[in-house]
Amino acid sequence: MTKFEALGLDKSLLDAITDLGFENPSEVQEKAIPILLENETDLVALAQTGTGKTAAFGFPLIQKINSDSRTTQGLILSPTRELCLQITNELKLYSKYVKGLHTVAIYGGASISDQAHQIKRGAQIIVATPGRMKDMINRRMVDISKIDYCILDEADEMLNMGFYEDIKDILSNTPDEKFTWLFSATMPREVATIAKKFMHKPQEITVGAKNAGASTVQHEYYVVGGRDRYPALKRLADANPDIFSVVFCRTKRDTQKVAEKLIEDGYNAGALHGDLSQNQRDLVMNAFRKKQIQMLVATDVAARGIDVDDITHVINYQLPDEIETYTHRSGRTGRAGKSGISMVIVTRSEMRKIKSIEGKIKQKFLTKKIPTGIEICEIQLYHLANKIKDTEVNSEVENYLPAISDVLKDLDREALIKKIVSVEFTRFYNYYNKTKDLNTVDGGRDRGDHGADGGSNNGSVRYFINVGEKDGYDWMSLKDFLKDTLSVGRDDVFKVDVKESFSFFNSHESIKELILQTFSEFKVDGRFINVEVSKNPGGGGGRGRRDRNRGGGGGRDRDRRGGGRRKEKTSSRRSGDSKPGKRRSKRKDGFY
Ligand code: ADP
Ligand code: MG
Repeated sequence: MTKFEALGLDKSLLDAITDLGFENPSEVQEKAIPILLENETDLVALAQTGTGKTAAFGFPLIQKINSDSRTTQGLILSPTRELCLQITNELKLYSKYVKGLHTVAIYGGASISDQAHQIKRGAQIIVATPGRMKDMINRRMVDISKIDYCILDEADEMLNMGFYEDIKDILSNTPDEKFTWLFSATMPREVATIAKKFMHKPQEITVGAKNAGASTVQHEYYVVGGRDRYPALKRLADANPDIFSVVFCRTKRDTQKVAEKLIEDGYNAGALHGDLSQNQRDLVMNAFRKKQIQMLVATDVAARGIDVDDITHVINYQLPDEIETYTHRSGRTGRAGKSGISMVIVTRSEMRKIKSIEGKIKQKFLTKKIPTGIEICEIQLYHLANKIKDTEVNSEVENYLPAISDVLKDLDREALIKKIVSVEFTRFYNYYNKTKDLNTVDGGRDRGDHGADGGSNNGSVRYFINVGEKDGYDWMSLKDFLKDTLSVGRDDVFKVDVKESFSFFNSHESIKELILQTFSEFKVDGRFINVEVSKNPGGGGGRGRRDRNRGGGGGRDRDRRGGGRRKEKTSSRRSGDSKPGKRRSKRKDGFY
């Protein structure tokens, strides 16, 4: 008897499982399947992404559905179109030997009447995004009044994306005597509220430590010349405007030096090392916790006690001597179910260390290029535009509005926008305008998607797209979305670089028209997805030149409470914002 058989699954499922090549159930499957098969119960299951949750609810659901009846019996809600399609595909594979079972996907950005038609032909299982589902309920295109099972997949993500009201509405169209299975990677308060409000005495299972998530860290390395470490660090910071990071150096001296330089260049930085008094260390840590410090430069020993959950990036300014230490460093990010990035700045002679680390952490590094000046300018410009959009209007300005309007009365909207963004942008532009590529010649192995064309841009086009982490994407899921939407192959889009509220990607020149055409009037869940050709070449520009710029501006002159006034530098930027934006967890795929 196989382990899957022991869970109580039928022959038709077992045969499909054999075809899929699954040998053993994953932990969440082992725990959830028997509970769901043997009981009629509500269930809350917490497990990280990539642990096999789809099969954990999919197998029992398929087994419990009556495929002789055409009535819709199971509804799965999932946050995004790609996930929706992914789940539907998986369920189809699982049920390939179950005669008459139909699973239909419902999501925005595709013809609603086609979807309605598919449902009309009989769909025992519907997999839907909340937005489109609600739309179809309102138009009476679906009937979910007789469902027996409702599954909320990636519940934390759905709530993150603001689907609470939609979910509530959808659930109000389902019968009371159904069973609800909730799957989530994390258990924030909102998810607990849903469980409490819409579920009856749910059984609970947890896989791995609650909120644990070392696998939510993406590892990246950047190859630079030995003297370019510091300018590279600055660019990494500038290319990630909301960075909240720990920067690791090898010695106390380097730690102090790098922190001082960053502060001098206008960044919100602080040093943490053993030569500081306890009192000084407390001050720095408090400022870091309050996010008044965005870049905490630390030694390994001093960083040991850092218990801050939402660090977005760990930057290895220098690699540690011991490989073991790298694990401790990268573990500072990707905590509490959030995702994180661990970046390593290396010289070519240190490359072999990357290999040993990969062996140790059992994860591959992505080769990345230090962003070019123009790339940074573009990121900063979009960031600025988004910041303006999200800024809450201070009611105090009302009083001055008539006078200000008078001053600006000759400027039309477009001219005004240009001027507003130029106020901040010009400093960045002036600093980066003439700088060169920091990546060393032949910057290491090209692996994964990011270096797909090795940094040159022969025949490749870079695009801007107005979705990002905020919309639940990471580079993998955005790439999947693009690939599916455009019906192109895996390697046709590359260098997918996801930022907070927008992203970049590359394609070969030959599909540029297809891409621009596809996204000319493209909506997902009621929202326009917009793609434009980006000016920056992406991923590094030309090759082989070194940038020797040292010091200088391009940094931030932020509101450094408690710090002395910094010297005015023409090339640095001013912005009164000391709070980096909140990061949302990204999805990472891959089994275990
Ligand atoms: P989650 O929903 O938890 O993020 P998925 O259900 O998407 O995870 O599963 C991740 C990947 O693992 C999928 O490609 C799936 O086919 C595969 N998978 C699931 N269960 C098993 C198993 N028991 N053995 C091997 N691979 C599996
Ligand atoms: Mg899943």
